[in-house]
This record gives sequence, structure tokens and C-alpha cells, in this order.
Amino acid sequence: MHLAKRLDEVGFSDIVQIRNKVMELRAAGQPVHAFHGGEPFFETPESIKDASTRALSENRTRYAPSSGIEPLRTALVHKLQSRNGISAAVEDVIVTAGGAHALYVAFQAILDPGDDMMLFAPYWTPIRDMITMEQARPVMIPKSSARRNGITETLEHLSTPNTRAIYYNTPQNPSGLVFSRQEAEEVAAFAIKHNRVVVADEAYEDLVYEGEHVSIASLPGMAERTITCYTFSKTYAMTGWRIGYAAAKDPFMTGLRKLVLYSTNGVSTPTQWAALEALTVPQTAIASRREEYRQRRDLLVEGLNELGLECDLPAGAFYAFPRVAKIHKESRRVAAMLLDKVHVATIPGVVFGAQGEGHVRFSYAVSPEALRAGLDALRKFFV
Ligand code: PLP
Repeated sequence: MHLAKRLDEVGFSDIVQIRNKVMELRAAGQPVHAFHGGEPFFETPESIKDASTRALSENRTRYAPSSGIEPLRTALVHKLQSRNGISAAVEDVIVTAGGAHALYVAFQAILDPGDDMMLFAPYWTPIRDMITMEQARPVMIPKSSARRNGITETLEHLSTPNTRAIYYNTPQNPSGLVFSRQEAEEVAAFAIKHNRVVVADEAYEDLVYEGEHVSIASLPGMAERTITCYTFSKTYAMTGWRIGYAAAKDPFMTGLRKLVLYSTNGVSTPTQWAALEALTVPQTAIASRREEYRQRRDLLVEGLNELGLECDLPAGAFYAFPRVAKIHKESRRVAAMLLDKVHVATIPGVVFGAQGEGHVRFSYAVSPEALRAGLDALRKFFV
């Protein structure tokens, strides 16, 4: 008995393994300061839950079109135009089972075995596995040196004849980096010059504290070569609902439609009605959540720096990525020590690629009380 060869090099997300370990500790009655997660600190808004209950009581429980219910896709077109500056028609939008599914079908739609895919590193862990699953090769673009030496120069230097596409995530997980408009323009110019596809991951589009969120597909000449992936998980605290969407033009959308049809045959119908309701949440409510995240970020980053865990101020998302090499040079050891000694759960930076070594990732999507308690526990680590 053996598995398909294309799974040989594919790992099982370390993040999920850590999440399982924390659940085990908790089940054994041990308190854990949980900074390892990637979930909003608030619950799904009531109006969204009500919309799903309403859909159930109205018996909206049958197969939906595999690419998504029409009212949701129409509302998404409006959102893409008004908030992202991406001009799209209904046929350019597809509903997926979360952002992860959108990315999965995007990679499947564009990568052939032997292709290279460029990605800025450190990167969100599953991306490497998703590329490898297509028997394609991830080509790392170290983010710090790219910023130091110039994005264009670095992309030109690392580009290979087999490069098919670039994964472009802003705001970025795990570093919280937000690419500037000029940086987006440089990536776009490179993609156009060399005829590359861009897979844009905008999961954290609503969590930008400094600078602006620029959707790369909104730049001239980019809509036709970009598959942009979104999720309801982060903005609306809907991680467990499993709904997201992608925007793309043909030929890519034809591929996405086939892949969604044969992977999930669409997202559960009541969840889609709930997502439609989510799009009516006012921007003022999203902005006040953002402000709450900003306060948590400032509290955490200040606390980490006070402890000598040097941390740049992340401009977006809800993660801090301090340097921890002064505790131990291997971040896996540091994360294990923090968890064992003071029950502080973090993610070792190395799981986000070699460029993340020497760091651990903290999520500040937790309550201010949990944040303060976690910082107190960390102080004990150093005494
Ligand atoms: N992209 C990034 C960078 C993420 O961090 C995540 C979730 O952590 C996702 C996409 C996908 O989220 P989901 O599958 O919950 O929509």
C-alpha cells in the first residue's frame, strides 16, 4: 500500500500540530496562554448567525450552484469594485470553502509539475505544501533582503526560466508586513514583463494599521493575470464556517470552476446566506475592531521589547514576530521551552521557512486580559 507520489514532500501543518498539543494540555486541566492561534478574538456577529438560522428555517438547504449563490456573487462584485478597486463581473467571482480552499484551487489551476512558484519568505506555512502538492517548486524570496536590495532587483535575480507565478500575501502572515503601493507596482511590473501569474492572498485586507492595503489586481494590466483569494474568516470571525472567495478572469476562472465543482461542489447553502449578511456589516464596525487589534498590538509589542525580545511594529494582520535567538538559536526549542516552562503557546518561526528561524510568532487576537496574563507569564520565564 502506498500514497500517491505527489504527497511525498507534503508536510502536515506544524501549526495544526501545535494547536493539537495545546488542546491536549487544556484537556489535561493545564492553563495555557494561547498566542499560537490565527483566529479573531470576538465571536461571529449575531446578524450573521441569524441569517444562517433564517436560511435553515426557510429550507435553503438544497444544492446551491457550485460557484456560489447569485446574490452573494453579485454582492462580492460590488465589494471588489468599491473596496479593492478590482473591476469584476459576476462570472469573475467564485465562492470557496475558505481562503485556504481558494488558494488550493488557484495553485491547482496554474501549476504544472516542474514549475517554479516564487513566494516571499517567511510565508504562511501551508503555501509551501500546496505548491509542493502540485509537484512544483517553491522559490523563496527573502523578504528582508528584498526590501533592502529592492523588490525588482531581487525578483529579477531569483527568477528562473521555469517561474510560472508569484504568491503575493499582504498583509503578511507571519510577519505582519504590509507591502506599499510602490512595492505592489514593482511586483506587478515584474509579472507583466515576464508574463507571470500572481496569486494574491488578501486574507487580512481589513487589518492594516499603518499604510494602505493595495490589491495588486487593481493595478493596470494585473486583473487578467491575478487570482485574488479572500476569506470571511478574519474580518467577520467566521473561521469555522469555511467560506471565502476568489476573483479571477479566464482562462483561470474556468479552471477554478472545475476545481471547486470536483472538490467540494460548492459551499454549504446556509453559510453562503450568512456570508451575504456579513457583507452588510458597516465599515465603521470593521474599523472599530481594527482599532481594538491595534491596541492589542501596541500592548504586546511594547511588552516583548521590554523583555528584550526585539520586535518590529507589524503594520498589519494580527501577529507579532519577535527575535528570540537570545533564548536559543532554534525557534522550535524556544517555543517548546515557553510552552513547558510558563505555558505560553507560540509558533516557532522556522515553520514559516528558514527565513523565520530565530523568531517565534505571537498572535495578539486575544483579550487584553489574556495578553497581560501572557506577558506576566513571559516575565517569569526570564527570572
Ligand atoms: N491566508 C493566510 C495568510 C492566512 O493566514 C489564512 C489563515 O490563517 C488564510 C489564508 C486562510 O484562512 P481560511 O482558510 O480560514 O479562510
